[in-house]
Amino acid sequence: MFKDITKEELIKFRGADSMSNCNLCNKEVDERETQEQCGLSLCLSCEGKYTDKELAEQGMINEVKTFEVDTWILFDRDSFNLKGYRYKFCEDKKDLLEIYDQDLPKLKEELSEYLFEWATDGSSKDSLIPFVYFSEDDFQDTYNPFKGLHWEDYYADLDMPNEWVNVSYGNDELPSFISQKDIHKAYHIWINSFNEKVRKENHDLDFGNELAPRFNITLCYGSGYDLLSTNSFDEVIKWIKENPKNKQQIKETKEIV
Ligand SMILES: [Zn+2]
Repeated sequence: MFKDITKEELIKFRGADSMSNCNLCNKEVDERETQEQCGLSLCLSCEGKYTDKELAEQGMINEVKTFEVDTWILFDRDSFNLKGYRYKFCEDKKDLLEIYDQDLPKLKEELSEYLFEWATDGSSKDSLIPFVYFSEDDFQDTYNPFKGLHWEDYYADLDMPNEWVNVSYGNDELPSFISQKDIHKAYHIWINSFNEKVRKENHDLDFGNELAPRFNITLCYGSGYDLLSTNSFDEVIKWIKENPKNKQQIKETKEIV
């Protein structure tokens, strides 16, 4: 477990220190008159103004996500599967995530009392809301929910075409996009980091000792070979434009995806 953070700091990340200001309009309000929505404390005129989804889109709240696949972590020395549990990345502190408050009772039920106390770092005994939080190190040999966060940096420098769809999946080696919505007509583009140091770390066996090129176009997800490997994004765009899939390629794609 990640321990280098004080409880006070964590409460700050969670925004719980501004209880008397509306988290949307910042109007000062009596704490007793605030309404809770997705962990935000809102004044009466802001409450219900936006849907939860709209709040997430505006970056006001961190989206609640779910561990969709087996995710084995350690509580003390006991391994525990978080699959099905919901979580959020801590505000302003993206290298920490916390188990969604509403799933803590379930966790309490599934852990022994000792382990629940351990997992909540004793915080369930205080008047504070208990919390269970993790850092990336806790997910070393299992599904890594932080991977996608880092991936945004891989292509932050690129002007993605509007028709491309981000299909990056947490367990993949790299982020990837498809060149259009129609998955059979689309090419699959794998994107490595612009940072050569990161690319060296992402050592790709296909390229032996050579530094892997930044972009690889494949027929589709799961297709074993590259149609184009290049360091030039312009070349990627141009190639896709000039080489729409032929019937045979579309047929081949349908057999794979
Ligand atoms: Zn307000």
